[in-house]
Amino acid sequence: MELIQIKTAGDGSSPKQKLDLATVQQKLSAAQGPEYWRSLEELAGTEEFQELLHQEFPRQASEWIGGDVSRRNFLQLMSASLALAGLSGCTKMPTQAIVPYVKQPESLVLGRPQYYATAFTLGAEGMPVLVRSNEGRPTKIEGNPEHPVSKGRTDTFAQGSLLDLYDPDRTQVNLFRGETQTWGTFVSAMQAPLASQKANGGAGLRLLTRSVNSPTLAAQIKMLQQQYPQMKWVQWDPVNRSSVYAGAQMAFGQPIEARYNFANADVILTLDGDFLYSGFPGMTQYSMDWANRRDPDNKQNTRGINRMYSVESTPSVTGFKADHRLPVKPSEVEQFARALAAKLGLGGSGNVSGDGAKFLDAVAKDLQAHKGAAVVVVGEKQPPAVHALAHAINGTLGAVGQTVTYTDPLIANPVDNAASLKDLEKDINANNVDLLLILDANPVYDTPEDTDFKQLLKKVGLKVQYGLHLDETAYECDWHVSGTHYLEHWSDARAANGAMTIVQPLIAPLYGGHSPHEFLAVFTGQPDASGYDIVRNYWQGQFKGTGSFDEFWRRSIHDGFAAGTEFQPKQVKAAAANFPPTQMNQSQGVEMVVRFDPSVYDGRFANNGWLQELPKPLTKLTWDNVIVVSPKMAKDMKFPADQNAAVAEIEYRGKKLEGPVWVQVGHPDDTITLYLGYGRDRAGKTGDGHGYNAYSMWYSDEPYYSRGVKITNTGKRYEVASTQGTQDFYGRNIIRAASVAEYKKNPEFAKEMGEAPKSDDTLYPGYQYPDTGENGNPAYKWGMSIDLNRCTGCNACIIACVAENNTPVVGKEQVQRGRHMHWLRVDSYYQGSPANPVAYFEPLPCMQCENAPCELVCPVGATVHSTEGLNDMVYNRCVGTRYCSNNCPYKVRRFNFLLFQDWTTPQYKLMRNPEVTVRSRGVMEKCTYCVQRITNGRIHAEEDDRRIKDGEILTACQQVCPTNAIIFGDINTPNSLVAQLKSGPRSYGVLEDLNTRPRTTHLAAVLNPNPEITGGEPEQHS
Ligand code: SF4
Ligand code: SF4
Repeated sequence: MELIQIKTAGDGSSPKQKLDLATVQQKLSAAQGPEYWRSLEELAGTEEFQELLHQEFPRQASEWIGGDVSRRNFLQLMSASLALAGLSGCTKMPTQAIVPYVKQPESLVLGRPQYYATAFTLGAEGMPVLVRSNEGRPTKIEGNPEHPVSKGRTDTFAQGSLLDLYDPDRTQVNLFRGETQTWGTFVSAMQAPLASQKANGGAGLRLLTRSVNSPTLAAQIKMLQQQYPQMKWVQWDPVNRSSVYAGAQMAFGQPIEARYNFANADVILTLDGDFLYSGFPGMTQYSMDWANRRDPDNKQNTRGINRMYSVESTPSVTGFKADHRLPVKPSEVEQFARALAAKLGLGGSGNVSGDGAKFLDAVAKDLQAHKGAAVVVVGEKQPPAVHALAHAINGTLGAVGQTVTYTDPLIANPVDNAASLKDLEKDINANNVDLLLILDANPVYDTPEDTDFKQLLKKVGLKVQYGLHLDETAYECDWHVSGTHYLEHWSDARAANGAMTIVQPLIAPLYGGHSPHEFLAVFTGQPDASGYDIVRNYWQGQFKGTGSFDEFWRRSIHDGFAAGTEFQPKQVKAAAANFPPTQMNQSQGVEMVVRFDPSVYDGRFANNGWLQELPKPLTKLTWDNVIVVSPKMAKDMKFPADQNAAVAEIEYRGKKLEGPVWVQVGHPDDTITLYLGYGRDRAGKTGDGHGYNAYSMWYSDEPYYSRGVKITNTGKRYEVASTQGTQDFYGRNIIRAASVAEYKKNPEFAKEMGEAPKSDDTLYPGYQYPDTGENGNPAYKWGMSIDLNRCTGCNACIIACVAENNTPVVGKEQVQRGRHMHWLRVDSYYQGSPANPVAYFEPLPCMQCENAPCELVCPVGATVHSTEGLNDMVYNRCVGTRYCSNNCPYKVRRFNFLLFQDWTTPQYKLMRNPEVTVRSRGVMEKCTYCVQRITNGRIHAEEDDRRIKDGEILTACQQVCPTNAIIFGDINTPNSLVAQLKSGPRSYGVLEDLNTRPRTTHLAAVLNPNPEITGGEPEQHS
C-alpha cells in the first residue's frame, strides 16, 4: 500500500517511517502497542508521532515559525485592536433597574463582583446563567444554581458567548447600501414600505427568523401578523428541530417535546442522540442526572450504575460514553429502530445484520427487563420516523411518566424549516416579496445548496437585515441594522423545562445597536418602545398571579426565572408503530451526514477565537473542519491517519468540494461526516478563511443524510491542527478501568494497576506543611479529584478555565507547534479495535505535586510550593528557561513563546478577569487551582470568622462541569467531598509511580457491559 510521506512541522530532514493502518492492526493483534492509546499515530509508534511530541519544546522555539502567511494570519488575530482604537475603557450600565442576584448592598463595592441572572439562548433552549460583573463589565458566565435545569452548570457555547460580547468585529452602525445611517433615519425609511404593505394586508411582507424561543418575540411576531394578515413568517435555522416535531406529529398528532429523566433510567438506548453534548436542549440537567447514575460509589445511587447503548454514525461523546456502541451507516439507524420495535412486539420489521443482530437482541432483552426504567433517546438529525418509533417504543416500555414526559414545544412556532424556506423561495421567484425582514439570521451563508439565497435577494424589493455582524447576508441587503448581544438587552427565553427565564442586560450596548424587540417594534407601529417596556408589558399581560406584578417581575429578574411557569407534562399516547419509511434516494455507495460543528456550531461562533481554538471532542482538532472517515475506508483509499491530512474531493449531485480527511476511530465504513460552520468569508478577522463550506453539500430534500456520494483522494495534502498528539505519556498506564463485576470482586483494582511508592521513598527534600493555619485552625490542604466515569469529554471545563484565567488565543500555526495555552486539557484514550473502540476522557490540569519536579529545576525560584500545597507560579520571577516544563512529567505547563496576549484591543481589556494576572511573552503559566477563588473564599470566611466551608470554593472548571466530574476542596477536612473521594477505592494518582504525590488525583472508570454482548461472565446490574 502506498502512503504519502508525512510532513511535519519539524525540519523535515530525516526519512520518516510511513504510518499505515496495517501497522496499526498488526500492533493490536500482536498486543505490542500501549493498551490505551490516543491516536492511530501513537498506536503505530511512528517517528512522526514522536517528532510531534517534541514540538512542544521545539528548537528555535522563540523564533517566528513561518513565512509571510503565518505571520499575517497571526497578526490578523492580534490586530483586532485597530478596529476600535477609539473605544473608551469606561462602561455604562443599562438605565433600567436591573437586580443583583446576591443579597448585598445594591450600590457598587469596588473590587467585589456582582452576579446577575440572565439567559443564553441557542436554538430551542434558553440556558439560565449567572453572569459575573466586575464594575459593570461582564467577565464570566456561570450556570444559575437555583434553576432546576442548570443547577449551576453551563456548556461550551454559553461559556464562549462572553467573547462574542466583546468581539471587535461586531457591527457598530446601521447601514443603508453601505452608508452609515442613524436609527431615526432607519425608522423613517421604513414608513413608506410599511404603508404600502398595509394597503395590501402585508401580502408582500416576509419575516425570516431562526427558531424563536422567546415568548415576547413570538408575541410581537403574532402582533405583526395581525396587523399584516397576509404576511408570512419564514423560519430557517440550520440546526432545527423540525424532525423532532414531525416525529411527534406522527406518533401523537401534535408537535410536542420529549423531556427525559435519566435519574430514573437504568437502561438507556440512544439512536444518534448526543444528549451529553452542548446543543442538545436540557444537556446540563441530562448530564448531571446521567452522571449521578454512573457513580458506583454514590450512596444516593441506590439503583446501581446505569447501562447505556448507542447506535450512531458520527462518533459522539455520548456514543463513546455508552457501555456498548454500534457504529452504523446513517440509513441503518432507522432500520435498527424498526427492528427493535418489531422485537418489542410493535410490529413491522427492520433489516439489521452482522454484529448489529447480536447487539439488537441484547438491547431488546435489556430494555424489556427494565420496563418503567428504560428509555430510548433520538437525536434531531434522525428522520421523523425514528422519533416516532422511539415514542412508540418508550410507550411499550412503560417509560412515559418515569423516564420520559411530553410537554409543549420549546420553540414558539414549530414548522418544517425546509418547507418554510422553500415557500419563501417560491414567493420570491414569483416576485411576491416586496419587503423582506431578516431577523438575526444569515441565510446567504447557512442555507442548503439548493437555495441560492444570494440570487434570490436580488429579486426582493427591499431587504432589511438585523444582526450583530456584517455577515454574508448583510452585504446583500439594502439595510443592515446593528443588533445587541444578549448581555446588552432585555428579552426572555424558555429553559429546557419550559420555565420563563428573563434575559436582563449587564452592560449598555458597547457599540450602540438595538434589541431584536426594538427592531421588530418598528414594524408593529411602536418605534419608540424600549426593549425593557416590551418585555415587561408582555409579562404583565400574562400575569395571572394573586400578588403584585411588580413583585413577580422583580423576583423573576432576581432569580432569573419565574417559578411555576415550567411546562406541565401532557398526557399523550403514541400511535401504533407502522410509521411510513423515510423516503431517500436509493443510490448505493458512500453515505454522507452533515453535522453542526462541536465548536463553531452552524457558523455563528466562527469569529470566536476561544471556540475556534477549543480542541473538538474526540478529534481534538482546532481551527478547521474535516471530512471524517473510518480507519478501513482510509486504508482502502490510501488516506494517512495524521495531521498532514490528505485532501479528498467529494462529489454529489454534480457539485464538488475539497477538504482534509480525518481518520476517526469508531466511524462507520462507507460513510463520511462533514461539519457545518466553516468556509466563511464574512465572519470577521478570526473566522474568515478556515475550512470548507459544508452547506454546499447539503440539500433541503435530504436533511438527514445523503447516499451515493463519490469521494476521491486528490493526492494533495493539508496541515490540520489537532492537540491529540501532543503532551504524551509514552504508553504509561494513565487510564484505569474495570467492569462493575470486576469492581465488586476487587474494589482495589485501580490501586493494584499502579505502584504508589512510600512518601519518603524519594530524593526530593519534602515540604514541611504547617499543622495550623493563620487562625489556629488546621491548615488547608487543597486537592482535586476527577472522575473518569463522570467525565463525558464535553470540553466545557477547558473553556471555563480560559474565560476565568485570561488565557490567550494563539492561532492555528501555534497550535500545530504544540503551543496552545490551555491550562487544562481533556485527553481521549481508546482501547480495543480502531473499528469500534472503548473511549475514556481524562481531564488533566496541573497536578499540584507535593514532590514537584518543576520546582527543583527553576533557577530563579519562579515556581514554588505554598503552605496549602499549591504549586505557585511567580510570573514576575519567571525568566523563561522552561526547565520546569521539561521536568514536568504531566506536560501541563504552557509557555508564552510569543506575545499571544492581545494587550491593545480595548474591548478585551474590559473582558478580562481583574483578579488574574494577564501574562505576557516569555512567561510560563499553568493551572493554579483558581487561586483567586481560594483567596476570595478565604476573605469571606475571615470576615465571618469561620473556616471555609466544603463546596464554598468552586474552581472554574468544577463550576461549569455538567457532570460534577471535578471536585475541589480541603483534604484536611475529613468529611469534605474531595477527602472522601480521595480515600475511596477508585482513587489513583496519574504517574504516581514517579512519587510526585499529585494533589489532583483521578477516579477509575467502571463500565457496565452486557455479558450477552461481551460474552463475559454475568454482570451485576442494578
Ligand atoms: S470534566 Fe470537563 S470534559 Fe469532563 S464532563 Fe466535566 S466539563 Fe466536560
Ligand atoms: S482549577 Fe482553575 S486554573 Fe486549574 S484547570 Fe481548573 S479552572 Fe483552570
